[in-house]
Amino acid sequence: MADSAKLSPVEYLYADLSDANSILATIDSGLLSTYRGKNRAAWEQFYRKKRAKLAKELELLSGARLSGRDTRAIAAMQKQMKAFRGGGALFNPAAKCQDAPRKDIAYRNLKSALVACFVEIGNSLSFEGGKVNRVSVLDLLHETSDRGRRKAAFFAFVPLWQAINGHNEPDSPYRRMIAGAAAEAIKNGTEIDNAARDMGIDPAEVERWLVQILDAWRESSGDVMVEPWDFRFQSGEADRLLGAYIPRESLQPINQRYYRDLGVDLEQIGTLYDLAPRPEKAALAYTDFVTHGRMVNGAWRPTVARVSAPYERGGLFVLNELVHENGHVVNITAIRNRPAFVEWPSSLFAEAFADVPSWSTYEPVWQRRYLSHEAPEKLSLRALHSVVVLDVAWSLFELRMLRAPLTDPNALWTEITSRYLHIVPHPELSWWAVRVQLADLPGYMVNYGLGAILTAEIRQHISQLRGAFDTGDSRWYGWLSEHLLRYGSERDTRTLMQDFLGRPVSPQALLQQIHRLKPVTLQATGDHRTDSARHSILLSLDYPAGLAQLSSRRPQSSWH
Ligand SMILES: [Zn+2]
Repeated sequence: MADSAKLSPVEYLYADLSDANSILATIDSGLLSTYRGKNRAAWEQFYRKKRAKLAKELELLSGARLSGRDTRAIAAMQKQMKAFRGGGALFNPAAKCQDAPRKDIAYRNLKSALVACFVEIGNSLSFEGGKVNRVSVLDLLHETSDRGRRKAAFFAFVPLWQAINGHNEPDSPYRRMIAGAAAEAIKNGTEIDNAARDMGIDPAEVERWLVQILDAWRESSGDVMVEPWDFRFQSGEADRLLGAYIPRESLQPINQRYYRDLGVDLEQIGTLYDLAPRPEKAALAYTDFVTHGRMVNGAWRPTVARVSAPYERGGLFVLNELVHENGHVVNITAIRNRPAFVEWPSSLFAEAFADVPSWSTYEPVWQRRYLSHEAPEKLSLRALHSVVVLDVAWSLFELRMLRAPLTDPNALWTEITSRYLHIVPHPELSWWAVRVQLADLPGYMVNYGLGAILTAEIRQHISQLRGAFDTGDSRWYGWLSEHLLRYGSERDTRTLMQDFLGRPVSPQALLQQIHRLKPVTLQATGDHRTDSARHSILLSLDYPAGLAQLSSRRPQSSWH
């Protein structure tokens, strides 16, 4: 304890610095110009002063004899400090997209230039004489019934694909970038290695699990080939059936009501929302700290989180993403720990946990309660899991690109999507290049793809212990805080999950969910009594040979 007493002032200094860092990011996101009465210049000065002081204090502690936990606290602070930027808008770097084709720029600058392409080009795609952003185009692909119009929406991405991957020449911007990422990985490891460690499996096992999930989808989704511009539409019937009941202005009220039913009032805990599109804004939705929770005079002062998103439209796809972002809010506001550990858990856990509440939006009982309308279960599950497997496809894509960076990315994407998702080959198109993560943090997609395994495990375990929570459970937030979330960055994901589940993680829960989709029996028996069968028939009018599957969801979900 004496050790911790020595460390405590240093940790509170760290807490001040960490807050200044996240407040500067909040100001630079364009949401606010002042916070707690201080403007940007004042916060920057505060940040610099605290940073210099903390560096000195940590230096002084380097020779001290400390307990194991204190040593880990110092390591956590040092690691987290490395990621502090002291301002600058997230996902909107100072770099310019026009630098992406330059062969003389370093890996980091190239990566920044590619992220800039997502902002500059992805935020203003041309469609039907107007401008729309990337999220809206993905949404249009779910909802547009007219095939020609849908195809036109898909091809609105061409300028973005070209900015990212040129004409797929061996030294295209993306191909040079991924070579740089692979070189870096030799020194520092990859996101895939991190995810394997967090999952408690061998890195080689990651690929096997991803392929297992894709195989489950391949087997349970029929074998009708669809064009890539039809893929999201094909599985997005639930989105279309419910879209009219989710206008943009209803997104927040529905989201807030669901979380109130789960025992947390997001407004009351001070969450800040910035959901309107702006041209210079980050091209994807994300959630982050504004300030970090800490003890003040013997009482816990809660974490304040903020959610940023560029929403032009409503719809189930967008609502699912908003609920996902607020899953992140739940995660970080539930942390109760000493300052060193009031931080994100692993990316794998963070992304997986955010989907624990958001998957409910594709459950008919949830839809009935919050939308007063529901889509048939099979259609909802198909819409949800088509998005999951698309994330898994990107995970496998990045894993293989990082392992063999000279691979032709269009050929690889074509191979994965035609084999497992039954998508017609179009190796001439770089249609994989629609996720900011691919440029910002190569390998990050595995946190969604593999994260789905954890999501299914956590949802199943909560349901077994507490019952389903799709229509609320007022003790849900409190119970999860206590059993899973309060540790913050202190506990590694493998141990956390092992203790929570009482066994190692396995892909079984997710595989079972995907196998639930098999429409074969229903159709083969000619049993047309149920809604899902009826909708299968409707679908088959548009798509000869009955139903296929596929679609996708969140264009987004940033990390965090
Ligand atoms: Zn997320």
